[in-house]
Amino acid sequence: MKQKVIAILGSTGSIGTQALEVIRQNAEQFRVCILTAQSNSKLLIQQALEFKPAYVVIGDETKCSEVENALKSFNIKVLCGMDELCDVVTDPNIDIVLTALVGFAGLKPTIAAIKAGKDIALANKETLVVAGEMITQLAENHKVKILPVDSEHSAIFQCLVGEENNPIEKIYLTASGGPFLGKGGDFLASVTKTEALKHPNWIMGAKITIDSASLMNKGLEVIEAKWLFNLEISQIDVIVHPQSIVHSIVQFQDGSMKAQLGLPDMKLPIQYALGYPNRIKNEYPRFNFLNYPNLTFEQADKKTFRNLALAFEALESGGNTPCVINAANEVVVAEFLNNRIGFLQMSDVIEDCMNKITFLQNPSLEDYLETDRETRIYAQELVTNR
Ligand code: NAD
Ligand code: MG
Repeated sequence: MKQKVIAILGSTGSIGTQALEVIRQNAEQFRVCILTAQSNSKLLIQQALEFKPAYVVIGDETKCSEVENALKSFNIKVLCGMDELCDVVTDPNIDIVLTALVGFAGLKPTIAAIKAGKDIALANKETLVVAGEMITQLAENHKVKILPVDSEHSAIFQCLVGEENNPIEKIYLTASGGPFLGKGGDFLASVTKTEALKHPNWIMGAKITIDSASLMNKGLEVIEAKWLFNLEISQIDVIVHPQSIVHSIVQFQDGSMKAQLGLPDMKLPIQYALGYPNRIKNEYPRFNFLNYPNLTFEQADKKTFRNLALAFEALESGGNTPCVINAANEVVVAEFLNNRIGFLQMSDVIEDCMNKITFLQNPSLEDYLETDRETRIYAQELVTNR
C-alpha cells in the first residue's frame, strides 16, 4: 500500500488522539501532514514534536504565539484560526482529511477539503446533519470518497462492500441506550452532568457523550446515515443494543441481514477509514463470545428520549431544519455542561427552535451559516430566560 498522507482536524480530541495511535502503530502506511486543535495548545505542541507534520493550526488565536514559539526551531508552519485551516486542507500532498473536530465548525473545512479533491474520513457527523445534501453532492462532483468513522456507519459501509448492485431494504442503527437506558421522565428531570457523562461502553468527548445520554447522538446518526447511504427515512430504524458489540445491520431485498461486530473501540473504524479498502493487521483485543453470553436488542423509547423523535421530524421536514436542531443542540449541550439547563429541558429548547426559525426548503451555504447563527441566538435566549 502506498503511504497515505493524512490531515487530522481536531487531533487533540478523543477521535484525534485515537487516530494518532493508529498512525503511530502503522508508520509505514500513514504520515501526518496537518494537526489542528481549538485550544489545547500543550497537547498540540507535544503531538507536533512527535509526528513532525508540515503544519499545525490552532483555532484560538490567543494561543498562536505560544505554539509558534514552541515549534520555531522545527520545520513546522504554525497557522491560526478557521480561514487558515480552510486554506491549508487544500495542500496538494494530502490524501485524506480526517474530520475529528466537533460540531458545526466542521462544515467549512470539510467543504474546502472536498473542493480540493481530498477524500474525507468523516467523524464530524454534524457536517452531514447540517448540510448532508450539499456535502454529498459536492463529494460526487469532485469524485471524493466520504469514508465514515462513526462506528455504526462504518459497520454499514463494511456490510456493503461487494454489494454495490444490491439495493438496501433497510438499515438498523444500533444504540447503546446510554447511561439512562430504561429510565423514565421523573428520573431524567434531575440527572446531573456527572451522571450523564458516564457512558457505559465508550469514552468520548463531552458533547457526544451528552448526545449519547439524550439519544440526540442516535438522531444525528439517523440523519448522517440518510446522506451517507442515500436512504429514505422509512429505510432507517434504530434498535437499542446495550452491549455495543453489533455495530449496525443492513437488510437486503431478499430479507438477508449482514451485521458488523467487534469490541467497542473507535480505533477499528478509524483504521478502516484510513486504510480503506485494505484491512490492516493489529493486535487489539479480540471479541470473545464467552464474555458476552447475551447480546440483547430492544425498542428505543422515543417518548421519553424526545430528541430521537425530534431528529426524525427534522429529517422529515428537510431544508434547514436539521441545521436548526444541530445548532440548538450545541447550545443546550454546552449549557447543560455549565449546569444552566436541566436534562429534559434540552428537548424543549430544541423543539421551540424548530418551530420558531424560518423554514428554508433549499438552503445555500450562506443560508446554513445564517440559520446556525440565528438558532444559536434564539436558543441562548430561551435558556437564559427560562
Ligand atoms: P472532542 O471534544 O474530544 O475533540 C474535539 C476536537 O475538535 C479537539 O481537538 C478540539 O480542539 C477540536 N475543536 C473543538 N472545537 C473546535 C472549533 N470550533 N474549531 C476547530 N476545532 C475545534 O470530540 P470527539 O469525541 O473526538 O468527537 C469529534 C467528532 O467525532 C464529533 O463530531 C463526534 O460526534 C464524532 N464522533 C466521535 C466519537 C468518539 O468516540 N469520540 C465517535 C463517533 C463520532
Ligand atoms: Mg456512533
